[in-house]
Amino acid sequence: RAKDLGRNNCQIYSSSMDATSYQSFFMERDLRKALIHDEFTAYFQPRVDARTNKIISAEALIRWKHPKYGLVPPSEFIPLAEETGLIIPIGEWMKKRVCELLVKWREEGIPLVPISINVSPQRFLQSDFATCVRQILEKYDLNGSLLEIEITENSLMRTEEYVEQTIEELKELGVKIYIDDFGTGYSSFAYLKSFKLDGIKIDRSFIKDISSESENASITSAMINLAKHLKMDVIAEGVETVEELNFLKEHNCHHVQGYLFAKPSPAEEFQALLAEGLNLK
Ligand code: C2E
Ligand code: MG
Ligand code: MG
Ligand code: MG
Repeated sequence: RAKDLGRNNCQIYSSSMDATSYQSFFMERDLRKALIHDEFTAYFQPRVDARTNKIISAEALIRWKHPKYGLVPPSEFIPLAEETGLIIPIGEWMKKRVCELLVKWREEGIPLVPISINVSPQRFLQSDFATCVRQILEKYDLNGSLLEIEITENSLMRTEEYVEQTIEELKELGVKIYIDDFGTGYSSFAYLKSFKLDGIKIDRSFIKDISSESENASITSAMINLAKHLKMDVIAEGVETVEELNFLKEHNCHHVQGYLFAKPSPAEEFQALLAEGLNLK
């Protein structure tokens, strides 16, 4: 690939361009257009308290309504967005969209739950992140407790001075911080000691078949215990079966998110779920 052949190589423009670079070349162009033409949309997936089946919060998940290819999942374009820096304006779009919807739901008298957004390490590690969150909350007159953010362990590997300040400032605003895909990053546990974070989200890969896969069972129950002892909330993601749910309940993990309860759905559908009284199943 051109990238592997060194900086001054113009391979990318030659006829030997492979399918991957062809795709990213055009996808980058299309992503820029998507921002201008407002082609992104936010889906919402509830998190449920398994003891009551009530919706306690929801995760906002981006989709791309591509004019030619239809609904594109984030796995297809987030990596390129990260690589090109387009993740910054995409993330700003998402934050604004979520605030707009919270205001809309509030005006329509719908009982609100906190909405969590995924924040890329690039954005989280910018020194003005918390300030921008504060500004948008003020602009939309929203309480910080209505917003949560999910960061990955990579966001906490580099410990710039202001990371601590960012976390502190978010805490002051009442914005909760969760570690997403917990256990899949390259980081050590040290950050759990340095930073006051609100919770962890156990990655889907550890939840799969926990009732029959003993490694996943051990890892998951250890993670639940770790979180409890650190007084952190714990959410299991990707819960698909009743067996998985029962295991989690038995091990004292009651906050769950997954297809068993609800798939991510467009804002209007999620709004209907909220209006129905926060009770799934
Ligand atoms: P994530 O933050 O870990 O989100 C959870 C993913 O698991 C979502 O995929 C969700 O649809 C999927 N999921 C939830 N429950 C189940 C289940 O029971 N079974 C299965 N098989 N999957 C389940 P999605 O929406 O495709 O998002 C993928 C990833 O893209 C997200 O992983 C997140 O890392 C990233 N992403 C999504 N939206 C944004 C965004 O607005 N900004 C940024 N920076 N990243 C985003
Ligand atoms: Mg997430
Ligand atoms: Mg995750
Ligand atoms: Mg993930």
